[in-house]
Amino acid sequence: MSKVAVVTGASRGIGRAIAIRLADDGMRVVINYPSEADTAAETLAAIGARGGEAVAFRADMARVDEIRAMFSFVRDELGGVDVLVNNAGIAPPATLFEVSEELWDRVHAVNLKGAFFASQCAAELMIAQARGGRIVSVTSISAHVGGLDEVAYCPTKSGLRSVMHSLCLALGPHGITCNSVSPGTVATDINADRLDDPATLARQVDRVPLHRLGRAEEVAAAVAFLASDEASYITGAELLVDGGVLVNP
Ligand code: NAD
Repeated sequence: MSKVAVVTGASRGIGRAIAIRLADDGMRVVINYPSEADTAAETLAAIGARGGEAVAFRADMARVDEIRAMFSFVRDELGGVDVLVNNAGIAPPATLFEVSEELWDRVHAVNLKGAFFASQCAAELMIAQARGGRIVSVTSISAHVGGLDEVAYCPTKSGLRSVMHSLCLALGPHGITCNSVSPGTVATDINADRLDDPATLARQVDRVPLHRLGRAEEVAAAVAFLASDEASYITGAELLVDGGVLVNP
């Protein structure tokens, strides 16, 4: 029986590329999406056209009850889960004095709380299945640096990176590996407004040693590796997919 992978926020962007890649690798993929059924259907269709297997499931990652309902579906209808990719994320631009309590709570709920409780649900199933598993979280180079208009976003990514360390300790004895993939800048909807400004785009590209932005498929390739059997002795690690930008002083 092929493995089951749950990819959160897989209706577009990096999550869609991850879902397509894992389906290409032979996994049955659960495409989680919060509301936009049409874009989730596009991901489904793209996988179907390549001969892959996928199903879409609506769940707001900020809602623990909806996350639990998704994993009940995965257990009952798909027989369990082998891979969880915590990808869903939001990054509404807001500087220090623009951050409201509501914005802070929403960003933390989607990016950090949702990923934690999805990992808890997946881990529970994986332990019961007793065949190991893989949890991969899409963090960001923002886990390591500050961002003038990412004051609320950056701590969710360093927090998620930290969660992966604790999961690594808790789940290692069960053969479940827990790793992070940290992208640099990839042009998607999350940063479309910022990158629309040619000066911002040029600044972003200039500081990258490889002198270009990343592609969603390049992030997906790193996730696919950590989700694969080949990565069996890698846990608690972070794989940077950033064109070298983090080491550029
Ligand atoms: P995107 O906006 O295209 O995709 C975000 C995805 O998350 C969408 O599918 C969206 O529907 C989903 N999502 C948002 N809120 C959700 C919710 N409440 N419940 C479930 N799903 C929800 O952006 P992206 O660039 O593809 O982002 C994917 C991940 O990559 C995010 O975690 C982001 O922080 C991370 N990341 C992106 C970049 C970049 O430059 N694009 C860099 C570093 C990290």
